Amino acid sequence: MNFELTILGTNAALPIVGRSPSAQVLQIHHHHFLIDCGEGTQLRMLETGVRHNRIIQIFISHLHGDHVFGLIGLLTTWHLSNREAPVDIFAPEGLEEMIGVQLESGHTKLKYPLEFHPIDTKRHALLFENEVAQVFSLPLDHRVPTSGFLFREKQRSDNIIPEKIETYQIPVEQISAIKDGADYILPDGRRIPHQELTVPAPPPRSFAYCADTRYRKELIPLVKGVDLLYHEATFLDDNKDRAHRTYHATARQAATLAKKAGVGQLVLGHFSSRYEKIAPFAEEARKVFPNAIAAEDGTRIEIPAPERGLRE
Ligand SMILES: [Zn+2]
Repeated sequence: MNFELTILGTNAALPIVGRSPSAQVLQIHHHHFLIDCGEGTQLRMLETGVRHNRIIQIFISHLHGDHVFGLIGLLTTWHLSNREAPVDIFAPEGLEEMIGVQLESGHTKLKYPLEFHPIDTKRHALLFENEVAQVFSLPLDHRVPTSGFLFREKQRSDNIIPEKIETYQIPVEQISAIKDGADYILPDGRRIPHQELTVPAPPPRSFAYCADTRYRKELIPLVKGVDLLYHEATFLDDNKDRAHRTYHATARQAATLAKKAGVGQLVLGHFSSRYEKIAPFAEEARKVFPNAIAAEDGTRIEIPAPERGLRE
């Protein structure tokens, strides 16, 4: 069961050759979630093989252009390709008007249902859930109302041990109840306990997206122990005053947050165009938190599930 992040854009503010503005796709099992949608997102999806038709939920952190200017293009492409599946957009207040003006100007009436869900950017709250995941808002500190996103995979049912089906001749229609915790009663009345028939499913995985924002210590308890943290690092530490003034963070600050929150892995992005090379971002971060990388456009990070859970 997949849990994989594809980073489509890594530049701040504007596109440069090889670095597009922010956009990512998180795949959890067969669900694809789009996170931010900067200019060029459609092309980056084509280049990386992301199947954008599978996206239903879109999460937009804030309304600065480098996080939303790709959205009208993507929504229009779906319209032109006769999409019927609904689209849900979670974003701070104002996006519906922004998109509405663009659609009305072109007399475009979308062929599929589009619904906007405004986010209260001051609260950490559940925004969305389906059968595989829950998505929570993360209040961030930026020049305009901004929310990060925390994706948590749901705990799955226990796995049945195939040999036990054989041994006890368990009928197929009983298997789902056993996975959910039931014992199995043999035809002669003997009870085989659930624990003997199953192994626990692997522990659920998690990803936190924090952009754009200043270093914010209030995030530490909210992202504690996540498997993967994406944090913006618009600047290196030599520009930390500028980072503060412009409501952004440095690689060192992102790494400090990763360390204090005890996350599994840190990935940096949203690099200012003033930096030609991105290797120094990873170098600066690793001095504080060793398991850090600087993302490139097209970077894929998979969080593998352990083969089998263990019964303690
Ligand atoms: Zn911004």
